Amino acid sequence: MGLFDRGVEIKTPQQVVAMRRAGLVVGRTLELLRASVRAGISTGELDAIAEDHIRSSGATPSFQGYHGFPASICASVNDEVVHGIPGDRVLADGDVVSIDCGAIVPDDSGQGWHGDAAITVAVGAVADDVTELMRVTEEAMWRGIAAARPGGRVTDISHAVEHFVRSQGRYGILEDYTGHGIGTAMHQPPNVPNYGRPGKGPRLVAGLALAVEPMVTLGTKEVSVLEDDWTVVTDDGSCAAHFEHTFTLTPTGTWVLTALDGGEARLAALGVPFGGVTD
Ligand code: MG
Ligand code: MG
Repeated sequence: MGLFDRGVEIKTPQQVVAMRRAGLVVGRTLELLRASVRAGISTGELDAIAEDHIRSSGATPSFQGYHGFPASICASVNDEVVHGIPGDRVLADGDVVSIDCGAIVPDDSGQGWHGDAAITVAVGAVADDVTELMRVTEEAMWRGIAAARPGGRVTDISHAVEHFVRSQGRYGILEDYTGHGIGTAMHQPPNVPNYGRPGKGPRLVAGLALAVEPMVTLGTKEVSVLEDDWTVVTDDGSCAAHFEHTFTLTPTGTWVLTALDGGEARLAALGVPFGGVTD
């Protein structure tokens, strides 16, 4: 285990490398799923693809059994924002599906390390405002990650996410669900809200790992949970997008552990030093 500062788990460089292994499993699984999304496939089929890929990579799907969750991914379609349960629903042209995925990889001591990431994928041709929603949500995630600098505070990320989304138009930003610390567990302190003033929360230091995950809608920020006790839907039926990456700060910069290139390209575009090890 790493050192703890007010409940915040700080990873050693060796532990960050172990988290990178988990992050790559998640990132590769999501790319496989992105390539698998098409009209006519069910969310349950996507889940089976994910589980097979995670397990054949020597990892464990972290979502399975998490508070009783029955699958390896969350698959949330259209007005479903997050936590959709994969099943018989068949994707149709014009849908968008948000896929959230987590995996655990053990280090040499047997300690498991988590990765957590999400993408929203268009099924065929989607409406222009939905395409724009996806772009805004993904870019907001990157702006949030880019705002995390050593010596700053956690809500610097929150502020950057909100500021970017608000600069792009009228969107709903969920407040009831947040990003989070991650490491030996999927969800750890601190929470990483997607809105708010900068300069608050724990200090950002090398070895702190966070999942940044804006959830943005074309309408309201108000959401409800369906009777399955999981699926979060917008109250006004508006379409939603969700993007997530797990990242950490290292002594040399920022390393996006669930991005296949470690985030190097997107970080460079935002003027952030890359802090990863080239795989
Ligand atoms: Mg997630
Ligand atoms: Mg998460």
